[in-house]
Amino acid sequence: MSQLFDQLRSSVKEKISHLNYATWFSSVLDVKVEGDACVIVVPNRFVADWINDYYIALMRREIASLTKQDLKIAYEIVGPSGEPQGGPQAPAEVCAQSPQRARTLDSLNPRYAFDRFVVGSSNQFAHAACQAVADHPGGHYNPLFLWGGVGLGKTHLLQAIGLSLVSKNPQMRVHYVSSERFMNELINALRAQRMEEFRRRYRERADVLLMDDVQFIGGKETTQDEFFHTFNALHDSGRQIVVTSDKPAKEIKGFEERLRSRLEWGLSADIGPPDLETRIAILKKKGDVSNLSCPDDVAMFLASSIKANVRDLEGSLIRINAFASLTGTPLSASMAREILGSSLDGPEVRYTIDSVQRAVADFYKINVSDMKSPRRFRSLSHPRQVAMYLCKKLVRSSFPEIGTKFGGKDHTTVIHACRKIERLLTEDPVLQSDVATMERGILN
Ligand code: ADP
Ligand code: MG
Repeated sequence: MSQLFDQLRSSVKEKISHLNYATWFSSVLDVKVEGDACVIVVPNRFVADWINDYYIALMRREIASLTKQDLKIAYEIVGPSGEPQGGPQAPAEVCAQSPQRARTLDSLNPRYAFDRFVVGSSNQFAHAACQAVADHPGGHYNPLFLWGGVGLGKTHLLQAIGLSLVSKNPQMRVHYVSSERFMNELINALRAQRMEEFRRRYRERADVLLMDDVQFIGGKETTQDEFFHTFNALHDSGRQIVVTSDKPAKEIKGFEERLRSRLEWGLSADIGPPDLETRIAILKKKGDVSNLSCPDDVAMFLASSIKANVRDLEGSLIRINAFASLTGTPLSASMAREILGSSLDGPEVRYTIDSVQRAVADFYKINVSDMKSPRRFRSLSHPRQVAMYLCKKLVRSSFPEIGTKFGGKDHTTVIHACRKIERLLTEDPVLQSDVATMERGILN
């Protein structure tokens, strides 16, 4: 083993995440200078490709600073089927990364593993879908389309799929990219006339493509076109694609029809805002993994005050912990109220599935229990469908959650009901006015 290799390892280790290091660099066998080249010895071409695609700039910089020479980089592959030594190790340390960093992340981050995700009724279906994809990439759920509001865990789940795949199979080329970065890389490739390389990277050298925040490329035609062809190349050869968006595909402005329809080929799963119990569980979990203190009364106070965005919930816990440790004040609910004050969600109108069901049943003069029953008379099925539609619209629960609260109906039944009522509303003014009356009834 060369001295250069030793030095390079320690300097690279400091500059990239633990997981990436464990996945890509722990399997490098040697690094040596031969003539005007620096040769990186790797066990297989996957590692060589990956380092070349993602770490070439870093390698060049580090090697230049260690050798004080301007060397070409070359790869030597020893043993075509050689197993990389030491697979990815479970990261032991808690990544105390700043939220800023987390937002701009462009590779996999161990803080977004499945075991750090709290499952509740609002995200149960999406979580199960992601887990299924992580177990059988390229299987039935291809593509998987994940959508939901800001800060509800889409990136977390998307990354969890990647982390799980890489930990089970370190050779798998999992490509995580935000659609914004995809666009920027495309622009750079176009400018530098390196489209072939760009295409190879996305179409040939990826076994799995995880694309975050696809809504960003709405209205950006060239990027959509490139994504369309990337999608086809991967999908045609059975490779898994997972895409997230902050809205359903059909609501993304300037989104091409052919892309929308492809994203609907596989499975679509939505994430809704978590309920109180889930919010408390998330706070407790964040407290545990990040070594933040989170007493019960504080958890209850934060979870009752911040409902719409898990990122804000997390941020508030960090803020009050910082305040407590800087001032030496013990954490309490009243201290949290004082610190967070105006940043807390104000009082809001609360719709619940129960209140919607009651109002709709009152309007149609039927019993709530009949509405939840499996019976299919039109006198029951129509109110049931209206109620499901209103639950989606007002409570914004996920489809599976609504299904459960309507006597255990399948989420596809709920989707069908919502689509049907949406369609009827466009053509039936009587129904429009009935629905408006029911909406007012819910608030009383
Ligand atoms: P999105 O991509 O939907 O905007 P993120 O995945 O970035 O949201 O989530 C925002 C923050 O909230 C992240 O730190 C994430 O870990 C956390 N988070 C969201 N949902 C959950 C959950 N169910 N369990 C644990 N953490 C969660
Ligand atoms: Mg995100």
